[in-house]
Amino acid sequence: MIELAAGGASDVGRVRSVNQDSWVIGDGLWAVADGMGGHQGGEVASRMAIDSFQAHMLEPTSDAVVEAAQQANAAVHQRSSQDAKLRGMGTTLCAMALVGLDGEDQELAVINIGDSRCYQWRDGLMTQITRDHSLVEDMREAGQITEAEAAVHPHRNIVTRALGIQPDVEVDEFFVAPKTGDRYILCSDGLFNELSNEKIGATLRRLVDPQDACSELVRLANEAGGRDNVTCVVVDIVDDDGSAERASAAGRDAIRRRTQGHDVAGIASATTPDVDDDEASEKPTGFPEKTETKPKLKRATWRTLLFVLLFLIILGLAALAVGWYSRGTYFVGFGSHEEVVVFKGRPEQVLWFKPTIAKRTGVYKAQVPEAQRDDIAAGKQVDSIASAKTYLNQMRAIICSNLRNGARLAPPAPGAPTTTIPRACADLTMPPGKSTTTTSTTTSPPPSQPATTVASTKRTTTTHP
Ligand code: MN
Repeated sequence: MIELAAGGASDVGRVRSVNQDSWVIGDGLWAVADGMGGHQGGEVASRMAIDSFQAHMLEPTSDAVVEAAQQANAAVHQRSSQDAKLRGMGTTLCAMALVGLDGEDQELAVINIGDSRCYQWRDGLMTQITRDHSLVEDMREAGQITEAEAAVHPHRNIVTRALGIQPDVEVDEFFVAPKTGDRYILCSDGLFNELSNEKIGATLRRLVDPQDACSELVRLANEAGGRDNVTCVVVDIVDDDGSAERASAAGRDAIRRRTQGHDVAGIASATTPDVDDDEASEKPTGFPEKTETKPKLKRATWRTLLFVLLFLIILGLAALAVGWYSRGTYFVGFGSHEEVVVFKGRPEQVLWFKPTIAKRTGVYKAQVPEAQRDDIAAGKQVDSIASAKTYLNQMRAIICSNLRNGARLAPPAPGAPTTTIPRACADLTMPPGKSTTTTSTTTSPPPSQPATTVASTKRTTTTHP
């Protein structure tokens, strides 16, 4: 009689809030399921799959294993179509069962749907028995990406086959003749996405007790990031009862794959020695989520941060633009003591950009020609300091011209410093008569050429005889 020992462990991981993985260690039956689907769909699907699979394993035959998996599929699918909240739920199922008649051709049957895995650890070699039903695995097999690329591919959470999605499911089946000392590892992607084959192998070599090995593997996966639920079942072949020898004699000691009842030659998966415990050889890890929970939130957080940053940049640019708009111009207005002052800024204060004094004039409101008083009171806008000077010079010229024509200079506002008008009039050496015309600012257009009029009349005449 084949003697076995098994251990199992599962953990929610360090990122997710719920554990959607389920597992079982039964009588000659071991399984791991990784559920997917919101509203508890993932948990329900994986639990249902395991329970239903176990319940339908009525006899230890390979046909019964496949049949049980298909029954489990039907059960999950039916539940999903009945309960709107659970619609679309599904799960992976990776299971192993001891099949065959005791003492004769007993062997291990491994079935797989999805991307949970079964490994064989024999003589220090890790061999992946199952083939992932995932987009990334398809790409790897097609030679589109390397194994190293597959291990970190952002889409490696996409499964191409799952239990419970369709009314029927195709089940992959594999057979192994157990050998004393073999260890079989059933696990969800939360384990192998965090730990390299070398690391798993080294742990299996280090810890003899299957339960200790499981607990340690789960702990290590969490230590490596724990980005997904982690589940692991280890089955030890304590005594093969001559099974390996008989299988060898019968020429069926290799791992065989069978689909739709037909044997398929060879196992495509590479075998990895576990002797390398070097950290450097470990494959890098990414985000191994199959369902949308915390890792998506993490990405959302990054997106939010990026958005906030962008928003701040835009805000900064807007502030610069407003600053430029409000500060990049000048106006002439009345300051304290009603002094005519050139301000930098806009008459109407834009946001927190207050106009500041750019130039004082020593000219007071009472002295400003009446025609300009209202303009200045409203804030006479000018493009530059130079334009402001031109405007002020025109104003001074009018004042001086008026003074020369006998007007009296109004006194500055009470308490104001002395006016600069007398000095300005001395500076503006303008002939008294001409000054008025110069400062009238309006330039009359030149009289129209009589020739043009004649020409146009002539043309009109020719066009309309
Ligand atoms: Mn998973």
